Amino acid sequence: MSLRIGVIGTGKIGQDHIRRITYSLQGAEIVAVTDVNSELAERVVKEENLNAQVYNSGHEVIKADHVEAIIVTSWGPTHEEFVLASISAEKYVFCEKPLATTAEGCKKIVEAEEEYGKPLTQVGFMRRFDRSYRQLKKVVDDGKIGETLMVHCAHRAPEAPGFSGDMALTDSLVHEMDVLRWLLDDDYVSAQVLLPKRTRFAAEGLQDPHVVLLETKKGIRISVESFVNCQYGYDIQCQVVGETGTANLPEPASVAIRSDAKLSNDILVDWKERFIDSYDVELQEWIYSTIKGEVSGPTAWDGYVVAVTADACVEAKNSRNIEPILIPKRPDFYSKSHVLYY
Ligand code: NAP
Repeated sequence: MSLRIGVIGTGKIGQDHIRRITYSLQGAEIVAVTDVNSELAERVVKEENLNAQVYNSGHEVIKADHVEAIIVTSWGPTHEEFVLASISAEKYVFCEKPLATTAEGCKKIVEAEEEYGKPLTQVGFMRRFDRSYRQLKKVVDDGKIGETLMVHCAHRAPEAPGFSGDMALTDSLVHEMDVLRWLLDDDYVSAQVLLPKRTRFAAEGLQDPHVVLLETKKGIRISVESFVNCQYGYDIQCQVVGETGTANLPEPASVAIRSDAKLSNDILVDWKERFIDSYDVELQEWIYSTIKGEVSGPTAWDGYVVAVTADACVEAKNSRNIEPILIPKRPDFYSKSHVLYY
């Protein structure tokens, strides 16, 4: 059986997902596409040799009878509208982050699913599908380092073109906010944001780096360094400190070179390269679970919690205080949909 997918937004990541579904993954085909730039949508259909119809709007794609599931890869501010319309049409939807640009918008999606009676939405937090994060989670879950006490993370990128305002927290650090809840099977209770000496490589008016301190319900303390103009590479670090040991996120594979009296390894510079395999796993698992009629990855609830956490971080940055992260009780039906693959 082949899942018939409609894609809303044929920009960078939309094209990547179209290519992986068409040429690398199994069990699905792209049958409809749209983009505000219809010439772009038509060009993608032609260049990728798709047997897909080009529609004038996302709503037409969602309504089309032959479309069984939706992928939303348009500009962030349009996500809420297309996800809500997919739920109204009773279709499974994979939405790239953000689920919505406000916590209130995410909550509306959660409420729409509660009213429908079943989760339909998966959010594109792909780190949960990354092999190295899954290896780290298995070590933590198996109790190999005892109870977790602390986590130290770093999210470094060489430069941040196009970043403005608080995007380092609301656009890139959201991946840590999601993956760390999943890794620890915990929720956050407070956030504090420290502002270190500013790098001269940050665009005018932007703070970089940040240190975000999160506390969880279980009392675990997390520190995350966000440094998006670090110059040297794309470097994601995560170390879990337990009662009897520590566990580090494995480094991406790289050839160790011994030459000229030096031992060296390359460091990646492109985020896409770092997580390329996890996007494949993410979409493949989404296809399989959609065919089965369930959501097995990050749900609308997870998208909502991340939005609340990001808001608290922005508030903490501005107030310089420790701010509470107030997350309501998770509706029962979200816990059931949360399948864990290692
Ligand atoms: P992009 O290249 O700008 O692509 C977005 C596309 O959507 C553009 O072609 C845009 O057209 C189109 N669009 C805007 N409004 C639309 C509408 N109402 N209906 C249909 N199409 C519309 O951006 P991108 O880098 O692919 O990112 C897309 C989304 O994916 C963003 O929310 C981003 O945060 C997310 N993303 C997630 C990850 C991840 O790691 N999970 C990575 C990359 C991106 P115009 O350009 O003409 O406006």
